[in-house]
Amino acid sequence: MSDPFELGDPEPASAPAAASLRPASPPRYLLDLNDTQRQAVEAIDGPVLVLAGAGTGKTRVLITRLAHILLSAKARPWEVMAVTFTNKAAREMKERVAGLLGQPVEGWWVGTFHALAARMLRANAEVVGLKPNFTILDTDDQLRLIKQLLDAHGIDDKKWPPRVLSGILQRWKDRGLTPDKVSPAEGSDAAGGRALELYADYQARLRALNAADFGDLMLHCLTLFQSDPAALARYQRQFRYLLVDEYQDTNVAQYLWLRLLAQGHRNICCVGDDDQSIYSWRGAEVGNILRFEADFPGAQIIRLERNYRSTPHILGAASGLIAHNTGRLGKTLWTDVGSGEKVRVRGVWDGEEEARVVGEEIEAAQRGGLRLSQMAILVRAGFQTREFEERLITLGIPYRVIGGARFYERQEIRDAIAYLRVVVQPDDDLAFERIVNTPRRGLGPAALQTMHRLARDRQIPLTAAAGRLAETEDMTPKSRKTLGSLLADFERWRGLVPVMSQSDLAAMVLDESGYTGMWQQDRSVEAPGRLENLKELVSALDEFESLGGFLEHVSLVMENDEASDGDKVSLMTLHGSKGLEFDLVFLPGWEEGLFPHQRALDEGGVGGLEEERRLAYVGLTRARQRAEISFAASRRIYNQWQAALPSRFIDELPAEHIERVAAPGLAGYQSQRPMVSDSVFSGGGWSGGGGRRRAVTIDAASWHAEERPSAADRFQVGERVFHQKFGYGRILDVDGNKLEIAFEKAGNKKVMDSFVQSATPGPS
Ligand code: ATP
Ligand code: MG
Repeated sequence: MSDPFELGDPEPASAPAAASLRPASPPRYLLDLNDTQRQAVEAIDGPVLVLAGAGTGKTRVLITRLAHILLSAKARPWEVMAVTFTNKAAREMKERVAGLLGQPVEGWWVGTFHALAARMLRANAEVVGLKPNFTILDTDDQLRLIKQLLDAHGIDDKKWPPRVLSGILQRWKDRGLTPDKVSPAEGSDAAGGRALELYADYQARLRALNAADFGDLMLHCLTLFQSDPAALARYQRQFRYLLVDEYQDTNVAQYLWLRLLAQGHRNICCVGDDDQSIYSWRGAEVGNILRFEADFPGAQIIRLERNYRSTPHILGAASGLIAHNTGRLGKTLWTDVGSGEKVRVRGVWDGEEEARVVGEEIEAAQRGGLRLSQMAILVRAGFQTREFEERLITLGIPYRVIGGARFYERQEIRDAIAYLRVVVQPDDDLAFERIVNTPRRGLGPAALQTMHRLARDRQIPLTAAAGRLAETEDMTPKSRKTLGSLLADFERWRGLVPVMSQSDLAAMVLDESGYTGMWQQDRSVEAPGRLENLKELVSALDEFESLGGFLEHVSLVMENDEASDGDKVSLMTLHGSKGLEFDLVFLPGWEEGLFPHQRALDEGGVGGLEEERRLAYVGLTRARQRAEISFAASRRIYNQWQAALPSRFIDELPAEHIERVAAPGLAGYQSQRPMVSDSVFSGGGWSGGGGRRRAVTIDAASWHAEERPSAADRFQVGERVFHQKFGYGRILDVDGNKLEIAFEKAGNKKVMDSFVQSATPGPS
């Protein structure tokens, strides 16, 4: 008899098999669950929704359930589908199921939505007009294709950048809308009213190329189910059991796909947490989880309340925070994990100090026996990783960036560095080649080829070849002119190296070359993050003695990048941390405008704020033993220091679960809340919006051992003062603890009184 776990054709089975795998006594894996979890595992038949808070064992239930279904011979491996969100989660799920069963699970229907839909589509490609070997396009190919279509339609791609259009098409696909289903009204405002027409053309082009983009994987499956009911019926018969993790973040297309597949046997088990819905910006609909009972009448709703992950203080802090959201289902969570330490909330002077303190804490924890893989730094915005990466490299602590590239490996950072390399070193061919046509300035492959030919021929660097070509007739007059002015720009920038600060010069190079502008015009979801990264890079430059010193540093940092799989600290965004857990979690940058992020507030209003709060909840609940929140009092944007305010989320943490610590430089730091008008993260081009600002109140008494008199008692208008970062200045206005000061070098600023000293010798 063949092995029941061997994968044959995914033929539907008429009767359950694998009886030989039935364990003799109550299986061990069920004993490892609490009663409610066990109920969720054993309620095999009919629809089940496990709706429960973080760390209550939802993923564990799902995995055990999969094993249980197979071991109790309810279905054979190819009759069960288990879906999850990220590749990392899918890998872990496979490993854990394989561990429980003592069997490899290759070839089973366990994976991400994308992977499973692609598999289905390959088996039925003809129905949607593709061949089984269709290509899945990456983003670059996708954008190139859209650009061609824009050209063909005579639409200005400056006004309607391909990325914007690609975003619009993606949102339609997320909602399960093929071109014929998009309402004309909705399609009317983009691309001069022709977005819908472009969508139809784009789909036709993809078919002609035998290609699909990521959004198509799900969309084509829906079309398949609609146009070939027999195929749908086959899958409905095949999948006796459906299991879905992180259900709160499914989009409409995924939801429809699941619902159709589940209509056969109606054995669908979804697990999720409405408080952890953090992907609405990618089309996720938390409503899907709320509608479950209506979609599957008679569904069992199981709530898990015992949290196995975190200490009571961590759980208390997270629960207190999320309670500030309205319109949630609400849950009780308890734990009997030992009491543990309070969540630490630390005020630091600036980002550098924040990174230094985190580095010290990591070293101390390591000395205490904690493995690096049990520690994570979770940031709100990608640019924040730089300061931590630098610090970890300096300390020789290995780290990995999960779900993204290391700071200096990011596309826009590499481009910017290439510009700086050519400024410092005109013979750097690789760098020159990288940016000669980025942003696009009409110096495409043909022009580059001509430059290369001459360079090879004469054994000279590319820029030298370019210089000669700019003066001869070997290129079109237009290319010659562009090349000539680019070279002249580099010449000019090079001349400024001795007289300008690195930061100012880099900002100038990036602006004048059109590089910053390229991303400013780009309205894709990634563009603002890339601009933030560029600002971070420019700000960081002044930490180095010279541009050359910085470039040297970067090459050393890059070299540090060994590929070993050893014990490493994890760095990732809060979004990327969903479902994961670590003993020690650092949550830096809890400042107004950064977290909650100004963009989320500007674009999403109250809904945006609540999603940010859920993100904070996700972050806190990743921690098992210890969570450390920090906020900086000032951040450097370009070469300007700006004041920052603690995040409102800090105020929302219940006092009994947190311990406030101030770094030495901030002793006496008052956070009795002024409205600071030049908050780092609002205005000034940082987030594009003037922004809402609000006063934040922190209970000063619990923050400080000693009360300090208000600024009005200590300072007077007109007084000359000294500020630790901005230097000398004269007070223009005193308002509570806030001073408005005309600094001699830094101009007018509003600052906290705690950072200011009188510069005139006083009576005391
Ligand atoms: P999240 O909402 O963050 O995705 P979750 O609800 O999926 O969390 P799991 O990751 O499944 O929670 O479980 C959290 C931790 O608790 C894991 O380390 C898991 O092994 C452990 N755990 C869950 N249930 C039990 C149990 N009955 N006994 C012991 N440990 C458990
Ligand atoms: Mg989980």
